Amino acid sequence: MNSVIFVDKIIDPKNESVIKNHFVVIEKDEIVKISPNESYNDAQYSSYKKIKTSNSTLLPGFIEMHSHIHVSSQENAYYDSINDSDETLIIRGTKAVGDALFSGVTTMRDLGSKNNVIFPIKKAIDSHIIPGPNLVPSGSPITTTGGHCNMFGMESDTIEEVVQSIKYLANCGAQWIKIIATGGNFTPSTNIHEPQYSQETIEIAVEEAHKLGLKVATHCHATKGIIACTNAHVDNLIHCSWIGPENSDDFYDYQPEIANQIANDGIFVDPTLALSYLSQLRGKTLKRDPSKRYEILRQMWDIGIKFVSGMDSGMVNAHFDDFAYIPEVMVKKMGISCLDAIKVSTITSAECLGLDDKIGSISEGKKADLVIVKGDPSKTIEDLHNVHTIFKSGKLVKLNNEKMI
Ligand SMILES: [Zn+2]
Repeated sequence: MNSVIFVDKIIDPKNESVIKNHFVVIEKDEIVKISPNESYNDAQYSSYKKIKTSNSTLLPGFIEMHSHIHVSSQENAYYDSINDSDETLIIRGTKAVGDALFSGVTTMRDLGSKNNVIFPIKKAIDSHIIPGPNLVPSGSPITTTGGHCNMFGMESDTIEEVVQSIKYLANCGAQWIKIIATGGNFTPSTNIHEPQYSQETIEIAVEEAHKLGLKVATHCHATKGIIACTNAHVDNLIHCSWIGPENSDDFYDYQPEIANQIANDGIFVDPTLALSYLSQLRGKTLKRDPSKRYEILRQMWDIGIKFVSGMDSGMVNAHFDDFAYIPEVMVKKMGISCLDAIKVSTITSAECLGLDDKIGSISEGKKADLVIVKGDPSKTIEDLHNVHTIFKSGKLVKLNNEKMI
């Protein structure tokens, strides 16, 4: 159904502007008009659904750049992901995509599912069988035998095996390739200080993926892995934690010249920075004070590195309706402006996905993926938690806090 929306304010992240006293017209799945209220003529829109709000702000739907929809987000998430049957994983994933959509996430990139369970769930969303965001799937992550996330099912050690896995995933419908370039925290017995693959392997993987029209995101905690992936020109560095060698005096090994290379090459970074904040919020004691990490992230931001908004949802304490904490932590802990944090969560993430011609901004001709929140998040970032109305592809999925599908 076509709609007309009346709100106090519209945030357009692309033009970094807050527009007041305008109405927005949606026809089918598109924004077709944004005009000043005084030009409104009701006779022209007699058959359209009218959405009238008060003390509210309209902005693009959120883009969650890093989910694992089949993982439980509970304390025993690791064991769940090993022991659950594929049927249970699919049921978990079905619940996860609904939770994400109704919190305002209209596009979600999944960065690693076990046994490719992402693909039937994507099909179910696209066929309108279940509610969920537009999913951008990567399928199972590529890792080494016994490496980080090996239980997700895509162990590939040699260059030939990695290339074979990329071809297999492309054939399954993957739009991104996720490579686990270093050890990780989620999988015991892997080493967060060391790479899992050589630079040559990552280089060839990027070349092969690009040939097939796929982009590459690499999980990197260790600085050695960040250097290899930067030199290999991956499209997106994940975590980018700058963890130094084992037993060195400093845990972190931030290298400004590599950071400059990341900025100059336009490699996007998904810092997954809300994870420690959420763990603390939910009563967990952290292994180390996160303030040094926030400081490094701020330095990266200041030299122009483009951040995207990934949660790592599914991991312990990162729930699928938690998206608004990402921009909140960017403002509170990195000290960037509310408007900048909203840009990261919308247009910059859309740019990383190569979808910025369709989503992530508010202008005529763009897809009507929209959220309306109570308050004004350009001034108070926490207002992003107050999503009361959501459109996905022009379809009303939530109206005044009531689910419509
Ligand atoms: Zn992850």
